[in-house]
Amino acid sequence: MSGESRPAPGAMTPGPDWNPTRVVPSSAPDDVPEAWFNLVPNLPIPLPPARDGGDGQPSRLALQRRIRLAAVQEQDASTESFLPVPQRVREELAAIGRPTPLLRARALEAHLQTPARIYLKREDMLPTGSFKLNSAIAQAYFAAQQGVRTLVTETGAGQWGHAVAWAARLFGLHAVIFWAGVSARQKPGRHTVIKLLGGEVYPSPSERTQVGKALLRDGRHLLGSLGTAIGEAISYAQDHPETRYISGSNLPHVLAHQSVIGQEVKAQLAALGETPDTLIACVGGGSNLGGLMGPYLADKAERGDGLKLIGAESASAPRLTRGEWRYDHADPEGITPLTKSYTLGRDYELPETHVGGLRQHSGSAVVGVLRSQGLIDAVAYKETEAFETGSLMLRHEGILIAPESCHAVRAAVDRAIEARRTGHAETIVACVSGNGALDLEGYTAHLGDGA
Ligand SMILES: *Cc1c(COP(=O)(O)O)cnc(C)c1O
Repeated sequence: MSGESRPAPGAMTPGPDWNPTRVVPSSAPDDVPEAWFNLVPNLPIPLPPARDGGDGQPSRLALQRRIRLAAVQEQDASTESFLPVPQRVREELAAIGRPTPLLRARALEAHLQTPARIYLKREDMLPTGSFKLNSAIAQAYFAAQQGVRTLVTETGAGQWGHAVAWAARLFGLHAVIFWAGVSARQKPGRHTVIKLLGGEVYPSPSERTQVGKALLRDGRHLLGSLGTAIGEAISYAQDHPETRYISGSNLPHVLAHQSVIGQEVKAQLAALGETPDTLIACVGGGSNLGGLMGPYLADKAERGDGLKLIGAESASAPRLTRGEWRYDHADPEGITPLTKSYTLGRDYELPETHVGGLRQHSGSAVVGVLRSQGLIDAVAYKETEAFETGSLMLRHEGILIAPESCHAVRAAVDRAIEARRTGHAETIVACVSGNGALDLEGYTAHLGDGA
């Protein structure tokens, strides 16, 4: 021991610069963007409009107009690049912890021995464990403004239903949620949380709606999927005129609400003096992808191949890598309008997986345009590849991420390994769309396979 005098442990102070309000940052509405970025007027070609079937069935477009919130229909029709974020929504987004951190994954980089820099956008840190809350808060706010008391929606993996139950509670609304049966059964923990929040949940297909009854009677899509849940939610709204139907992904207004993600990443990277070479998001309905990449569309137009945009999908629902860009319904019964997107066909029986958020046969019209015009690349990963990446993240970065997010991080890892070969100090940003704590069944199944 040196002769230097050291304070006795009891005399230690936190230090002269200790400031607990900095240690636990609380953001202000001013830290949230004033406007959402609308991708639609910024696409290189016009967005192919949704259509009716021309099959003599009652107009699906008219039904959508009746059951949806006025504010989001206005947003979908808008030709403005920026849509104002209401002050109350900015306050609530600040209150849930926006801006979310941008984490440099140094331990992962060291493990991969890569010259690449990997940044992770931490949407998993929001209170319901996923980015879905960004749009759920906005839509619940618009519903309350319109005097609506009950919202009905579908959810695939459950994160959107969870976020809607949370946001509905915030604004004193009731939430009715149709949940892809396969995921609802896999995730009793999330089911409990949604119920604790006051959500009314039906695993789909259910006996609760005409559409659900028809599927059960015919013995089709019995595992349930996002598509069956969409069909049931719309069917429920049709039979309950006092309710309004909302969506958690896919549509232009949802992608716009998620643009807080990309706007924050831009500001955070600029503060670090960084320019991204590659942006990566997993892709189901395309809302975290659109939200991250939308604000970068102008940069992409300027930089071309200098900026890579990558959508990571599930090999069990390989729409962008194997599907066709054509008009299709988003649900197996065809109660939704026809939308032009990448699709596997609405009769495609999706296999059971633990990546419910990416498990659908079709997708977003906006993402369809981005892909068809060569603006985004796509990669597909098998479930085992995703969970291997999840384990890697837990062991090296200490965080347990959602199975969906594992696809995006896997693409980042692949790029980082490639960078080791080329020596290129690539700057990679991957969106960690969600937390995995309520998706442990998937990780458990992965371990059970002996992998
Ligand atoms: C919903 C969800 C997704 C997929 O949705 P997108 O609309 O494609 O972004 C991905 N990850 C998590 C955690 C989700 O909750």
